[in-house]
Amino acid sequence: MILNCTRPLLAAICVSFCSCCWMPLATAQSPEAPNRKHQDPSDKFAQLDPWWPTPGDQRIASGAPGPAYWQQRADYEIDVTLDDQTQRIIGSARIDYHNQSPHTLSYVWVQLDQNRFRSDADDALTETAPSLQPRISFSHMKSILARRSFDGGYRIKSVTDAQGKPLPHKIAGTMMRIDLPEPLAPETGTQFVIDYSYNIVNGKTIRARSGYEFFEEDKNHIYEIAQWFPRVASYTDFGGWQNKPFLGRGEFTLELGDYRVRITAPSEMVVTATGTLTNSEEVLTPQWRERLERAKTADKPVFVVTPEEAKANESVRTETTKTWTFDAKNVRDFAFAASRKFIWDAMGTEVGSDTVMAMSFYPNEAEPLWSKYSTEAIAHTLDVYGRYSFEYPYEVAISVNGPVYGMEYPMICFNGPRPEDDGTYSKATKYGLISVVIHEVGHNFFPMIVNSDERQWTWMDEGLNTFLQYLAEQEWEEGYPSRRGDPEKIVAYMRGGNQRPIMTGSEEILQFGNNAYGKPATALNILRETILGRELFDFAFREYARRWKFKRPTPSDFFRTMEDASAIDLDWFWRGWFYGTEHVDIAIDDVELYQIDSGDPDEKAERERQEKDRREPTLSETRNEGLKRRIDWQPGLKDFYNSPEYDELKVEEEDRKSFQKFLDGLTSDERALLRRTTNFYVVDFRNVGGLVMPIVLRVHYADSTSEMMQFPAQIWRHNSKQVGKLIVTDKEIVRLELDPRRQTADTDESNNHWPEKLVPSRFKLFKDEKKKNAMQKAAQDEKQADKENGAEEKKSDDDDKVEPVE
Ligand SMILES: [Zn+2]
Repeated sequence: MILNCTRPLLAAICVSFCSCCWMPLATAQSPEAPNRKHQDPSDKFAQLDPWWPTPGDQRIASGAPGPAYWQQRADYEIDVTLDDQTQRIIGSARIDYHNQSPHTLSYVWVQLDQNRFRSDADDALTETAPSLQPRISFSHMKSILARRSFDGGYRIKSVTDAQGKPLPHKIAGTMMRIDLPEPLAPETGTQFVIDYSYNIVNGKTIRARSGYEFFEEDKNHIYEIAQWFPRVASYTDFGGWQNKPFLGRGEFTLELGDYRVRITAPSEMVVTATGTLTNSEEVLTPQWRERLERAKTADKPVFVVTPEEAKANESVRTETTKTWTFDAKNVRDFAFAASRKFIWDAMGTEVGSDTVMAMSFYPNEAEPLWSKYSTEAIAHTLDVYGRYSFEYPYEVAISVNGPVYGMEYPMICFNGPRPEDDGTYSKATKYGLISVVIHEVGHNFFPMIVNSDERQWTWMDEGLNTFLQYLAEQEWEEGYPSRRGDPEKIVAYMRGGNQRPIMTGSEEILQFGNNAYGKPATALNILRETILGRELFDFAFREYARRWKFKRPTPSDFFRTMEDASAIDLDWFWRGWFYGTEHVDIAIDDVELYQIDSGDPDEKAERERQEKDRREPTLSETRNEGLKRRIDWQPGLKDFYNSPEYDELKVEEEDRKSFQKFLDGLTSDERALLRRTTNFYVVDFRNVGGLVMPIVLRVHYADSTSEMMQFPAQIWRHNSKQVGKLIVTDKEIVRLELDPRRQTADTDESNNHWPEKLVPSRFKLFKDEKKKNAMQKAAQDEKQADKENGAEEKKSDDDDKVEPVE
């Protein structure tokens, strides 16, 4: 899901996730937590192992799945009817559940996400009052009212076993427990069938991840249907049954499995879905099939359903239906979309030795933007993400335009940006579309295939995905206006308050977009560019993706893999960026220069003489110049110390002999060292923000050259507040700059310079405005009336040429 702050209602929609874990990630598995209480809280380099689950055979210490790794499996066969008259879903789902755990199960939980829209749902009951003053938008008001009147939630008609025998079940909020007739032993399976229906939510008025959009002009709907059938909850080695209710934000995690879904919809609708269409002969015209075939080898998107055909299709109404059959293998969910309004374009894109069909579905209202960018952005995403993780394993990748701004499901995603009615669009809309398509298609990799638990840990998919989205955007065009990823983009958030650590449960996160998308994406970018370097990082990141492809990683699996595959201890980095809320602000406090004193008495005397000569006379000395002194008129007062023979800087022979004796005791190397003219600068740094980071320093010399230096974060290991660093150089340093290329998200640049840098600011001038009194206003109104009458007369002379009076 993507967050877009320009549209408040939808922004809130796209928000997602949940849960719990910034402190004891797995106390259950590490009851002893051996060192936790012995850790010094001020030690920013203390290891995180006591906070992480004790490695076992399921998840080993390297961060990889272990020899005893297991996960459950659920296969689905679903018949569903889309009722366009009443905007309803009527379905029958047969679920084959495979218990691949080593445990015996006496019940199975399924998720009933549509129950979130019941009026008595926890989502509604726990929603706090919006801020009504000074104003709220009409769309927000409509949403509040629609939420109260919408008749949402599942109607469960029956729950039976495969033979049609009713099974006891209990609905609890957004979950339903199905009690099994017999305990389900390890390595066995069970089947159950659920018949159900629900009213589809209007996605334009109620915040949702799916729903319909109604087009008043042509009386058509676009349906984006997701979280639309009872889905078996996850049962895992680290959490047992998923027990987080669906509150709308924490997305989900499900079991992987195979799907066969038969979607029945009005005949004139075009339907697209997760998976491969297996009955194209029955539902597509020969012409569409021919175009689709041609699109496989085309180098740019080909219309399968043209804009003209889609336009014509808008007014067709038949009483008949068609059933579209889709098969999907090894996916964790299934979504679909349907409308009479759909234009369909497609282009084959090479992924390894296979061709994946990149396809987009959108109404004429989305043109000309969508045919230009959507499918190209899909192909680009598969290319870039494939290089940083693994090759996209499915046959299709689909982007649909409808009511949802940005939401992802396996192989298919929903994306909102559209041009204006006149076909023009802003820069924000153009890049908003490309970015949201990259982001949502990118979610196929995280979390659809690397199956992390979104309801618990939002950053594991949104953060990783936003990081790769940034890389893909920067590969789209030079200067691409990425909203997130570059360290300087996160500075304002890091500096501000009201924060929780990234390692916070999805529903409890504050400032969702910055916390779960922006900050982790930036942290990974910094890890890649500044701490590990591209080569080490890319190898480790790919290793993580490869290890956990079609499996379920937890945060510690990610952290451990990144360390294991780079051979770099990063606990301090995770601690600072993922478990804490401190920010980066390193300052240059002070610079001192030291040089070698050889001890030679003649050199010393010469140095002191030069210093004395250089010394400017004091004010009194200057004014006293020419003053008649007592010893001038009483010369008898003068003695040896007033005579020219006396030199207070004179070197005694004794001192020279003693120095020579010191030299005689030295080796030739040591004597050479004494003669060095090297400069020893001690630069004092202060950690104002608290987050420990490498010190990145640019040193400018008197000869106009400069040099970049980087001191690893471990420089702070003895004292995380203040450190001094010795810089040894034969040159003279004239200027120092901290983090000049803005790579660490340093929140205050004003303390990054030595000598201090003056940053000029500007202010504006304004003219005092005097309020008009009542007499002046009356006179003004009269004048305005005259002017308007004149304009009226002129308008009647020549109607077309007169500019409207504003
Ligand atoms: Zn997302």
